[in-house]
Amino acid sequence: MRIGILGAGQLGRMLTLDGMRLGHEFSLYDPAGKASAGVGTIYNDPDGQHLGTFLNETDVVTYEFEHLPLELVNRIATEKPVHPVPRALQCCQNRTLEKALFRDLGISTAPFEVVASAEELQAATQRLGGRVVAKSATEGYDGKGQAVLDSPEQAPQAWPRIGCDTAIAESFVAFRRELSIVAARGQDGEMAFYPLAENIHHQGILRFSIAPAPHVTPELEDQAQRMIRTLMNELGYVGVLALEMFETEEGLVANEMAPRVHNSGHWSQNGAVTSQFENHIRAVSGLPLGETAALQPTCMINLIGETGPVAEILRLPYTHLHLYGKAGRSGRKVGHINILADSLEELRWRAMNTASLLPECPEFDWRP
Ligand code: AMP
Repeated sequence: MRIGILGAGQLGRMLTLDGMRLGHEFSLYDPAGKASAGVGTIYNDPDGQHLGTFLNETDVVTYEFEHLPLELVNRIATEKPVHPVPRALQCCQNRTLEKALFRDLGISTAPFEVVASAEELQAATQRLGGRVVAKSATEGYDGKGQAVLDSPEQAPQAWPRIGCDTAIAESFVAFRRELSIVAARGQDGEMAFYPLAENIHHQGILRFSIAPAPHVTPELEDQAQRMIRTLMNELGYVGVLALEMFETEEGLVANEMAPRVHNSGHWSQNGAVTSQFENHIRAVSGLPLGETAALQPTCMINLIGETGPVAEILRLPYTHLHLYGKAGRSGRKVGHINILADSLEELRWRAMNTASLLPECPEFDWRP
């Protein structure tokens, strides 16, 4: 089977690498003309000249990037099966729709209001009370297009920083930690859930994921699985879905979802029986899903800006290095390292040691 992927960055690359082991072939199509994946047949096609060829040669189409033109994906869906369903993409492109979906499905989120001006932001901040996070409704990712307000009076300065016509104003969540769940749903409705990951961000970018997250009670795991199961069933979802959440005193609060393989699931390449990439490919190509259990405690460290001392990293016996073949640039994800260990304490030492070698990497001061 030839699988078409919309978007051709590192996620497309890693999907291709795992899918090729299942005997599939791949065509990657980048409508933004910014392909960086370097595997499979690549169409770098800002003018749309090669869309017909791409569609002719593919049996099924998936995507690895949510900021795709929705009209394009809907048009493709009239010609080829598209998984996950374009509605998932539409919801994830617009925080207003995403939040409304969570609310309609009874999935707990931070209280929020939709605002369209500095005045509306000010009034919403007043009503919500306390600290508020304002987020652009569209185009925001990795903490971009966001502002934190400690009082309604800060709205006039905060509004221009959001840089969008419509925004969500939501209450600031005093979370214990950030968790995520990655799950897959097959074409027959079969589902598989990865253990929760604990995620540590720095300057709005994910730096470390630890999975399985320690101290996750069966109730918490169950709550996360219920939330993502509800979303996948509602959407008739096929493929891998990720849900980012905050852990609070009262349980989990959903933050946002991603209709694709997710950075907080990269640990599964070495730390789980079946990687999230393989499971996504299995789902979209109509194959049974693979086992999602963890093999060992795993820590994923993102390489941001530059790859760092590759030889030194490779000399550490417990590291699995994944490089994306991308040019280094400040703030850009260029690779990641998966570290496995027999115990959480050993994992902590190994991750601290590895992080200390990396440029632009914050100290790993996590404790189980
Ligand atoms: P997002 O773009 O929604 O994923 O937000 C990026 C990061 O900002 C999250 O991973 C959190 O660290 C932080 N954040 C977002 N929303 C909130 C919130 N309501 N309360 C506290 N922190 C938040």
